[in-house]
Order: sequence, then C-alpha cells, then structure tokens
Amino acid sequence: MVSRVIPVEPFDLVLFGATGDLAQRKILPGLYHRFEVGQMPEDARIIGTARSDMDSDAFREQLRASMQEFAPGFEKDTLDRFLTHVDYVPVDALGAAGWDTLSKSLRDDVVRAFYLSVGPKLFSGIAQRLHENGLATPDSRIVVEKPFGNDLASAKALNEGLRACFEEHQIYRIDHYLGKETVQNLMALRFANSLFEPLWNSTHVDHVQITVAETVGVEGRGAYYDQSGAMRDMIQNHLVQLLCLTAMEPPSKFAPNAVRDEKVKVIEALEPVVQADIARGQYRAEKGESGYVDHVGNPASRTESFIALKAHIGNWRWAGVPFYLRTGKRLRARESEIAVFFRDPPHTIFPNVGPLHGNVLVIRLQPDEGITLRTTIKDPGPGGFRLSDVALDMSFADALGADVRAQDAYERLIMDVIRGDQTLFMRGDEAEAAWAWVDPIIHGWEERGDRPSRYDQGSSGPEEALMLMHRDGRRWRQIGG
Ligand code: NAP
Repeated sequence: MVSRVIPVEPFDLVLFGATGDLAQRKILPGLYHRFEVGQMPEDARIIGTARSDMDSDAFREQLRASMQEFAPGFEKDTLDRFLTHVDYVPVDALGAAGWDTLSKSLRDDVVRAFYLSVGPKLFSGIAQRLHENGLATPDSRIVVEKPFGNDLASAKALNEGLRACFEEHQIYRIDHYLGKETVQNLMALRFANSLFEPLWNSTHVDHVQITVAETVGVEGRGAYYDQSGAMRDMIQNHLVQLLCLTAMEPPSKFAPNAVRDEKVKVIEALEPVVQADIARGQYRAEKGESGYVDHVGNPASRTESFIALKAHIGNWRWAGVPFYLRTGKRLRARESEIAVFFRDPPHTIFPNVGPLHGNVLVIRLQPDEGITLRTTIKDPGPGGFRLSDVALDMSFADALGADVRAQDAYERLIMDVIRGDQTLFMRGDEAEAAWAWVDPIIHGWEERGDRPSRYDQGSSGPEEALMLMHRDGRRWRQIGG
C-alpha cells in the first residue's frame, strides 16, 4: 500500500540554523523527500539563515554535499529542481544584520513558518526580532527544537519569551518521537479498534514497560549531554510522551487541543517517584574502549547515561499499575518499544502445563516498526497437551509497503506545521508539567550528591535496573530480543 500524498499550501519556510547539524542531516533532506513525492508545492520556498556569510549558490552547494552523506539515494534531477526552491540569507539572530533582507524576501500571500534549529538560548531573541521587524504575522508559525528548557523555571521563561511575540496556536514544540509512524499508530490501535480499549486499565493490565535503548554513546555531544543526562534528555520529553499516548483517556476528537488536554491530565496525575524506584547508570571504560567520563571530558561527572524508573499514574484507570520507563546509551541493541503486559489468566484448565503467561502487546518504534501480540497456543502434534507462547507479528514495512517506513518523523512534522496541525506537538503547559514531575527527582540527586552506578557497554544497564523489576516479581523484556 502506498500512502496518498496531498500537496500542502504554498509556503515560505525560514530555517534558522540552516548550516547546523540538525538542519543538514534531518530537516533539509526531509524537505527534499517531501518535494520528491510531490507534497511540497512548486511555489514553496525554503530560506536558510545562519551567521555564516555566503550567498544562496554557496549554500545550495553545501546542501548538495550534505545530501550525498545524509540522503545518498537522491535523484540528481530532482535535487536540482529542489535546490531552485532554496535560498540563503545571512542573519545574526541576536544582532541587527540580515533582518531587513530576510523581511524583503518573504511573501505576504503564503503560509509563513520560522523553524528555529538553533540552541534554546536563541529562541526568545529570535522571536523578539521576528516580532520587532514585523515578520511575525498573526498567521505565521514558529517551530522550536528540543531541549525545551533545562528545568521548570527555564521552560517557563522560554514559554514567556515565545508567548510575548506569538500566540500558543502559532507555537510548535517539536518532539520528533511524536512524528514516528508507530507512535501515531498507537492512537489508531487504541481508538480505531474496539478490541483493546475495554482491556486498557488496571483490571486487565499488569504493568507497562517503555524502553528506548541506544547503542551509541555521547561522543560528539558530550559537553551538552553532561549538563543534561538521560532524565532531561530522554525521560522528560520522549518517554513521558510515549507514556501519555499509552495511558491517556480517549479524546473526544482527534484535534490538537482535545489530544493535548488528555496528555496533560496524564502528566499531572504522575505521582512523585521515590528514590528506591530509580536506577541510574553511567557506562564505564573497558577493554581499551573509552567510557562516559572520557566522552564528556569530565572525570568527576555524576550525570547518568542510563535511567530506569517506576512511575505510577494516580487516576481511576491506572491505579496500582506500574509504568516502568528505561532508556540509556551504549546498550546491547538499538530498540524502542512500548510493551503492555496483560494479567495472567486467573485459572488454568490444562493439567501439567505450568503457570500460564499473560498476553503482551508490544508496539515497536524502532528498528522494525510494527506490533506484536504474544499469545499462548497449543504445541502442534499428538502426545499430550502442551502450550507455547508465540507472537502474532506485524511489521509495518511488510503490511503497508516500504513507502511507509521510509518517511522520517521530521518530514511529517514539518508538513504538519505548514498544514497548521498542532496535534503532534507539545503544548506549553505539557512541557511545564513534565518538568514539574522530573525536577524534584533531579534536585534530590543533586542535594544528596548521588553518583550513578557503572554499567558495561553493550549490556542492559546497571544491576540496580534489574533489581528494580525483580523486587516486584517481574522482568524486563530483553533489549535486542
Ligand atoms: P549546531 O550544529 O551547533 O548548529 C547551530 C546552528 O545555529 C548553525 O547553523 C549556526 O550557524 C547557527 N547559529 C548559532 N548562533 C547563531 C546566531 N547568533 N545567529 C544565527 N545563527 C546562529 O546545532 P544542531 O545540532 O543543528 O542543533 C540545533 C538545535 O536542535 C539545538 O537546539 C539542538 O539541541 C536541537 N537538536 C539537535 C539534534 C541533532 O541531532 N543535531 C537533535 C535534536 C535536537 P552559524 O554559526 O553560521 O551562525
């Protein structure tokens, strides 16, 4: 099945930080792909900006080189045509240079979007200059990248800075996890099928495991990461978002505020996490390989590259159901999934088969996006009645065609910005509520001077993470199957 492509309205997209890593690696190749399939209309324009002094031709050549690296399958003719839509204006985001030229290059009769692919310190300053220079029209959109703050106070300050110049309905806070096909399929699975929703509560669900495991370390972004850590970099945004979509009540309609209202309610219902329900880790140096502290250049670092924790949602639906969240660097496989463990059958009618296992619904986000349902069936053949656990397995690539898998989360999200659809973007109160939940945990570590435990590279994290589960008589699903 090939997905239908509906062209979006003509637009001017101003990309701040256009020479940076994210822009060259994800955003611009993503736009190319939308152009390639015909979703980006002929009169759309992309205006890259950064401080680097160059003209549009030089920027296009830079982009052509990046495409060799980050989108190697491109067609030369299509790229040539795409590049005719791309311009560059040097702008100093915090100074006066370039704003006038940028202003003159924008059209009044098309959708206008400003994508801030720059560090968060520049967000408020850019918003202010867009406003002062009359570039921020009532209908224009502003897109901001993560991290959205470093704690509750800084997130509030960012929100204030943006809201001084833009209305909330114009602000798009990106969490690229929400642009993943499977994450949206989680909503389809829950709310477009009648099978699961009656079971989606504490009566039938034993617990939920959400895992985002990476094999990469923090090399290359050590300075940033050491100020952040897994709690701020992953749990506060991506894993909390996955938890929200798993746990939220059905919204009355699939509309931005209806969905986001339900997500905020989940975050606000999260109970404080006690220290005993948290395992923090840092990958160690071993076998000639450098470790976390080498990668961040800070031998005394107390920042975690791994965290596992047990969360509880204090509401009627989920009372008593633990949500175990786990994420880390340099683990044994790259894998992201949500696993919903249903309760064991209450009684077995089969003699001599041992305890029956509950069903497990696994929503795989990466690497192979799809859904698996663990079921118990009879072992085939004569000679007694034996049972086996088998998986009903659906890979989106197989079921829906390669086209669906190929689309990167950024492609979808940028097109949603142009369409004016905020459903897959975090609202300001959502970001603040998530910080309000994680801040006390981080403050506790800082006040006590807690150090994360060391774990082996290529493992499943520190021993404490296993103990967190064992104490509850449960087990983590194995990372990497
Ligand atoms: P980067 O490689 O350091 O790029 C920063 C960009 O901002 C460059 O184009 C730089 O160009 C421009 N810039 C810096 N100061 C400026 C100023 N005063 N005025 C105008 N332009 C300025 O950063 P990045 O990795 O692309 O990340 C950008 C944002 O995305 C950050 O908030 C980051 O946290 C977030 N993010 C990145 C990734 C990723 O994979 N890279 C993933 C998720 C989120 P000039 O120096 O020429 O001005």
